[in-house]
Amino acid sequence: MVSAASTVPVRSVYVHAPFCARRCQYCDFAVKVRQVGDVDGWTAALAGELRAVSRDGRFPLAPALGTLYVGGGTPSLLGPDCMGALARLLGPGRLADPALEWTAEANPESFSPEVATAWRAAGVNRVSLGVQSFTESALRWMGRLHGPAGARRAVEIARRAGLDDLSVDLIFALPDEANRVWKADLDAVLALEPPHVSLYGLTVEVGTPLGKSVAEGRVRVASEERYREEYLYAVECLTAEGYVHYEVSNFARSGHDSQHNRVYWGGAAYLGIGNGAHSFSEPLRRWNLRDWDDYARVAATGELPVASQEMVGAAARQLERVWLWLRTDHGVPWDQLNGPARRVVRRWLKTGLALRSDEDGREHLRLTPAGWLLLDRLAVDLDQALGGVPEERDQESSRGYYL
Ligand code: SF4
Repeated sequence: MVSAASTVPVRSVYVHAPFCARRCQYCDFAVKVRQVGDVDGWTAALAGELRAVSRDGRFPLAPALGTLYVGGGTPSLLGPDCMGALARLLGPGRLADPALEWTAEANPESFSPEVATAWRAAGVNRVSLGVQSFTESALRWMGRLHGPAGARRAVEIARRAGLDDLSVDLIFALPDEANRVWKADLDAVLALEPPHVSLYGLTVEVGTPLGKSVAEGRVRVASEERYREEYLYAVECLTAEGYVHYEVSNFARSGHDSQHNRVYWGGAAYLGIGNGAHSFSEPLRRWNLRDWDDYARVAATGELPVASQEMVGAAARQLERVWLWLRTDHGVPWDQLNGPARRVVRRWLKTGLALRSDEDGREHLRLTPAGWLLLDRLAVDLDQALGGVPEERDQESSRGYYL
């Protein structure tokens, strides 16, 4: 049973834009395939959801947001007017803090100069470009709609519109079929000098075209060894060029960390709106209907389009906190480690999986890139050493279902 109400003012909002012109073969996201984004349908559904969120009261929006992140899907498929429309829905006063970080994701094929200029005018000040590779064959293999020239052009378009704070996403550990040369892709991204780079290892999800090809033996996933080699090689290249490896998958020039993601990693409250979006305000986590049509139908009635929710119990909270601590370069404050935990981390220190660092005069334990490759396992080990409670004994955890 869900009982406690959560009323911390929320300063961070994620907005999901569901439309993509084609589904990439590895994609398992909450996507609706359409050639043109339905900006009117999108804003109408978001407006309905925001009314329901306001009535519900458990995720009250602060008068001024600190971060706003529009992800997808392909937000750029919604065209030039979508960000202005979103600003009107949220209320311009909420976006008036000069320190607001407003990120929008874009794919090169739909990121035109008109889109970039209109987004900048609406207040977007950071763009995350879904580039994934600069290799023609790899882009075709993934099912992407842009080529290498499109990716370079998108970076130029962003800069011309004043969107200098940009991030480029790359995927590594592609199967041999993609004919990708990882070094060439890293050289290409470095030549563009984006202030932020995100790297994601390809994962095979059941139900995707890639999942089917792998299950039928038509595609062989990259070996663990290659995954490790490509990750460590990228870390070496990017850090040698002055990027700070501040989170397992993220690299930034000084002052260009993603503030929105820091909210997630720091365990602070956030509201997610749109299909499939998650919201969290300790201890409540809830998530929306994943299918766009189901979500839009419920949101249009002014009801909460929530699929499910849970109160995160003490054991789950501790494991999550440990996992989030270990994800970033802040690591775990040393004084939070008890005797058994220190015995565990001493093994990590000896084997090069972690190091001790000093932050603001306080000692921390942080993982090295080799440790980050084992993040999930190490988080479980540390949680258990800290006295993690097995989930079945965690009486605080409960689930409730709206639908
Ligand atoms: S562009 Fe992104 S969200 Fe859309 S199908 Fe491809 S991977 Fe999925």
